[in-house]
Amino acid sequence: MSAQKVVVVGGGIVGCMTAMALVQRGCKVTIVERHQIASQTSGESSWAGGGILFPLLPWMYSAHVNTLTQIGMQAYPAIAAQLRADTGIDTGFDPTGFLLLPPFDADTAIAWCEQYQVPIQAVKASAFAVNSLSGDDAFWLPTVCQARPPHMMQALRRWLEQHQVTMLEHTELAPLKEVGEMHAWPTMQGEKIEADQFVVTSGAWSFDLLKDTAAKLNIKPMRGQIVLYKPQKNLQQMVYRDGFYMIPRLDGHLLAGSTLEDVGFDAGVTEAVRDEIAAKAEAIMPSLKNEPIIKHWSGLRPGTPENLPVISAHPTIQNLYLNTGHFRYGLTMAPASAALVTALMCGDTPSIDATPYQCHA
Ligand SMILES: Cc1cc2nc3c(=O)[nH]c(=O)nc-3n(C[C@H](O)[C@H](O)[C@H](O)COP(=O)(O)OP(=O)(O)OC[C@H]3O[C@@H](n4cnc5c(N)ncnc54)[C@H](O)[C@@H]3O)c2cc1C
Repeated sequence: MSAQKVVVVGGGIVGCMTAMALVQRGCKVTIVERHQIASQTSGESSWAGGGILFPLLPWMYSAHVNTLTQIGMQAYPAIAAQLRADTGIDTGFDPTGFLLLPPFDADTAIAWCEQYQVPIQAVKASAFAVNSLSGDDAFWLPTVCQARPPHMMQALRRWLEQHQVTMLEHTELAPLKEVGEMHAWPTMQGEKIEADQFVVTSGAWSFDLLKDTAAKLNIKPMRGQIVLYKPQKNLQQMVYRDGFYMIPRLDGHLLAGSTLEDVGFDAGVTEAVRDEIAAKAEAIMPSLKNEPIIKHWSGLRPGTPENLPVISAHPTIQNLYLNTGHFRYGLTMAPASAALVTALMCGDTPSIDATPYQCHA
């Protein structure tokens, strides 16, 4: 039997990881991307993300979110090692550790960490040379890792090229009309892209593509802005306080962010947010007052209620699947959601219950 031909719609982290999983199952994969894979063009979330492989305050989320993030977190060491060995590209994967500054609900955090076997230690923030602003009692989660999203995307791109994945870039698929079964998907330029199966991984733009066929799909863009420093003296760990985080990179850069802005598809940046992020960063790390901001960008997250993605067959169209709506934790969840959608597409029994991620008619 010849290999299944699959079209992956959108070449962000979710599309690339899905393509990787499909290749590993023997499929012949084409990624259709309206811009360029592994580059920053106009708001694609994957290039722009911070790279924390942990859902900030996981005890705030449902077990269904935690199932995906836990599997993803456990998969990353092997994925980063494989990408490095196969492509020579370092993804920036690193067990940097996560310092959680107050305010937080200590009992809930400890109970969650016990349940999920994530090491957590009560510490003094001052021992980490940061200002806590609301008391010195902090939590240290030493096993939390990061990856560097632009490097992760470059490595995935190279790996997919090495495995004969076709990349149709600068090719935009048109919004889908109701059909029973899919044989070809038209592009905006009027071409038809044929395949046996299709999977939508087009992030914040997924609803635009599917609104005539899946009206209940609840995905909208949520902008996040990030600023970048290269300070003389950097943090040694990731720091989180009250919705704000800082991420030190191994090469001396420092990211600070982010925001949650409901501004539609506007992928711009604003001076007001830049100043707000700088003020929060300087309050925690006063030495940043003397450091210039060297870059400022934004990304459009695929926002969904409660951070719950849709990983499912399409409710009415045969041969069409969805893997989208990963909101704030798409990098962390991508390995787990790629494995789940690939199992559904290949007719395997998924290793987790797929019901919570279903797309309803
Ligand atoms: C500021 C910020 C910080 C973040 N920090 C973290 C973090 O620390 N940890 C974490 O786990 N997650 C983080 N995230 C979230 C994470 O980045 C996203 O959940 C993830 O990138 C979503 O990936 P995606 O592939 O679904 O979407 P995208 O990366 O947006 O990719 C979708 C792709 O589909 C393409 N596309 C759209 N429409 C079409 C069409 N019609 N035809 C062809 N192609 C199309 C787009 O061009 C795009 O390339 C962050 C996000 C932001 C913005």
